Amino acid sequence: MKQIFTRQALLLIFHLIANWIIRPTPAQWTYPPIQNWRINFKKGLLAGFSNLSPMIRSLVLLLIFYSGGWCFPIATAQTYYPWQDLQQNPNPNLSGILGVMYNPAPYPVALGKTYYHNSANFFGTMYLLKPIDEYDGIHPMLPLSPYYTSGFAMCSQKIPLLELYAPIEVGAVDSDPVNGLLDKYYPFASIVTAPFSTGPFNKLPSLNESSTNFNHPLSDVLASSVLEATQKFTRLTHNFYGWDGFDKLGQKCITTLIDKRMGRTRYDYVTKIVHHNIASYSEPSVSRDLIGHELAHGILNYVPALGDAAYEGYEDNSIPLHELMEFFCDVMGLANLNYHDLPNGLGFASPNWLYGVHQGLSLSTIR
Ligand SMILES: [Zn+2]
Repeated sequence: MKQIFTRQALLLIFHLIANWIIRPTPAQWTYPPIQNWRINFKKGLLAGFSNLSPMIRSLVLLLIFYSGGWCFPIATAQTYYPWQDLQQNPNPNLSGILGVMYNPAPYPVALGKTYYHNSANFFGTMYLLKPIDEYDGIHPMLPLSPYYTSGFAMCSQKIPLLELYAPIEVGAVDSDPVNGLLDKYYPFASIVTAPFSTGPFNKLPSLNESSTNFNHPLSDVLASSVLEATQKFTRLTHNFYGWDGFDKLGQKCITTLIDKRMGRTRYDYVTKIVHHNIASYSEPSVSRDLIGHELAHGILNYVPALGDAAYEGYEDNSIPLHELMEFFCDVMGLANLNYHDLPNGLGFASPNWLYGVHQGLSLSTIR
């Protein structure tokens, strides 16, 4: 722990000095109009942020990033979006099926799109796309630096300071008959040139590769809906009963795949991954109640007394325990819907008890 602290402290000092020396000109690093920021984060964590100069803003962001790293160095495991810190003499030793996120940092999306719940603030992650090629031995390897290509990916690390209580990632999967693949995975990622972009976030075929003719098979609004609702769900369970993520400690990464194939939206207790299958439904299952329902299954799976055993033979749903589990998940899903429907949890004052109404589902009452 002491070593981690010392390392992070040295990195922070180095970055602050380096960032000052190479500070970009306004033309290189532009921000949205101040007026937008006032509206977007009026009551939020970053209220007043807009009044700061771009230089001070970058320093504040760096402080937030690295203080998150000090406090929770353990919560970093991600499967679809593996990341690696490179500081000098880059020498990659990680790879994932979607590539690698180099030097990731939180990326606030102000008023990003959701499919059913209008615009909302959430966090993605920015990273360096190809730092090995671009490293010049001089300039610090920082996302959004004018000397490196930066990407955005639809995932977030555990940073309680930002009310992010578990690592979260959202990917896409589809079949690829041309290449004979049953499972073809895609990131939700794009190159970004300025902070606070609201998309599109599905322009990269892999995390470290750009292509002008790449067409993502899925709209990014499906992924932003899931990322936003999952971050809100972890906030709900943290605030109400001190439960972070699936495993209570928030160490397990919550992974969701937007699945373009036929099949049911479900929590898979074998892989511990949530699938939002969208081909089987007339409307995609990405409202806050349905997302919360599947995430609640993950919580139940990590309750030691239930575990995998409680999910075996689950399909017929015929025993009282399974019915009780479905009831719990419906209630948690609706709590996620109502709690965030109005600011400050005021949706609880007149809650909606109909489940799945955004999709027009027949299962519109709690089980
Ligand atoms: Zn269920």
